[in-house]
Amino acid sequence: MFSIDTLFSFLQVRYALSDRFHQELIETQNHGDSVTQFLLNTLRLKEEELKELYCQALHLEVFLFRDFLADEKLSRWIDAEMAAKWVCLPLSLQGNVLKIAVDDPFNLQIDKTIQFNYNFQPSVILIARKDWKRIYQQLYGQTAPAFFSDVPSDSQEAASLSAVSAPEQDELTAIFQAAVSERATDIHFEPLEKGLRIRFRVDGELHIHRVYAEECKYTFLSRLKLWAGLNIAEKRLPQDGQFTRVIQTEEIDMRLSTLPLIHGEKAVVRLLRRVLLLSSFQELGMSERVAGTFQKLIQASHGMILVCGPTASGKTTTLYTTLQQIDRERKNVVTIEDPVEYHLAGINQVQVNPKIEFGFARGLRSVLRQDPNIIFVGEIRDTETAEAALQAALTGHLVFSTLHTNDAPGAIIRLLEMGLEPYLIASTLTGILSQRLIRLACPHCSSFKPADSRTYKHYFPAGKNTPLPMIRETTGCAKCGGTGYIGRTGVFELLPYSDELRALTLEKADITVLRAAAQRAGMIPFYLDAFEKCFHGDTTLSEVFKLLPQKNQPKRG
Ligand SMILES: [Zn+2]
Repeated sequence: MFSIDTLFSFLQVRYALSDRFHQELIETQNHGDSVTQFLLNTLRLKEEELKELYCQALHLEVFLFRDFLADEKLSRWIDAEMAAKWVCLPLSLQGNVLKIAVDDPFNLQIDKTIQFNYNFQPSVILIARKDWKRIYQQLYGQTAPAFFSDVPSDSQEAASLSAVSAPEQDELTAIFQAAVSERATDIHFEPLEKGLRIRFRVDGELHIHRVYAEECKYTFLSRLKLWAGLNIAEKRLPQDGQFTRVIQTEEIDMRLSTLPLIHGEKAVVRLLRRVLLLSSFQELGMSERVAGTFQKLIQASHGMILVCGPTASGKTTTLYTTLQQIDRERKNVVTIEDPVEYHLAGINQVQVNPKIEFGFARGLRSVLRQDPNIIFVGEIRDTETAEAALQAALTGHLVFSTLHTNDAPGAIIRLLEMGLEPYLIASTLTGILSQRLIRLACPHCSSFKPADSRTYKHYFPAGKNTPLPMIRETTGCAKCGGTGYIGRTGVFELLPYSDELRALTLEKADITVLRAAAQRAGMIPFYLDAFEKCFHGDTTLSEVFKLLPQKNQPKRG
């Protein structure tokens, strides 16, 4: 019949659907379930809207009741039972072409049966369900059976159909539960022109969870805002807040932010798991070499250690793993965060609140009066915080913080650009760790093939006489939701701050000079770390290429 891929490409443009959704579509078809019903439920479309989409995507037409010419012989080719089961109807037979009206143009069984039983060529036209019912009654002389949408056939459909009438709290809890089961880090509530789309971020990528009816735009948002203590009536300004929910016996902090968009308010809920699951640098993905050097750096009694990378690159997880390595009984460890992401026994965690003018810089000044040894400043966002953090490092404290820069040498430039005295940076900084997260290849759908020799020699000139490593390639399967990946790991570059770099900082040297000195100081760029992981079979080459600077990207073709 018609290609699911064609339909998917068409829908993807409109609804920004994920590969996972594509996989679900294929599975629905392979299971012999109705693709039409699946789309009605998940995209929350009206039947007419969906059939209109079919017409455009597949160049189909809709058959109208008034055009039907009753002919008793027709029921010989498709009997009442088959017509009811697959929601189809025989319309006419010309030569060996049987014209069939269908509700689901992706039903493979209808084609097969017609061809196998009668050697007829099926010709397909769409039909509205109400017209199907009327013709069914006329042709077979009996009332059409109730639709599967009238009587939900399984729990997923039932949940979907009850979404509108169920109290929004239950539905939101169900969304949170699904998000936790799928290891989502963020939930997006996005207003569409009609309806509300829910997307999950899993392993760094967004995919659609479900689309809800129009009224959920308001009920869901109001409920979320109520939980987070926000102003429900305020819909024109962005707001943010926080609340806690127990999901599957785990207490999870939910950080809510809202933003007014043209079709209504959008909300993003970030899930903050309080329990840290990783306990060693190796588990984070650090190589023995990086872990060893980093371990030495964190033994210092004072100085500043920075962890860099974009948002959601695992910086806080790395620093909490670091705090776990520290003797928390004999040292006073204080964190200053917005929000506090993990709960760790034996340390003092301060939640700053810029709304009441209790920001990072002020929090840091208060903490310094509390006799700390080790301070973790959640993020350096401004000059005031940077200066206070470096001063603290200068006066005998070990300070950890995070900075949004692309690489480790870039952190020095960033601090200089913030207007900090070069001597303050040079005399306090001890190390900079920069990191990214890459997805781990799904072991259930991967195969190995030798690395492309040109690529390998290009990035590893030293290894030109060694055998080519084997590289994992994935196709996607049910276990990985069709993505080819399960879970993520970190890739790292560690820059021990050398005397040469100190001198260059005082000279305010530019980034190229700093990078060269960084490599002399022993820094291995994180993309090489990623290649190592790829050659070790942890990930695919395409994940590694995503990390490469533009100029180093492999040429296509
Ligand atoms: Zn897989």
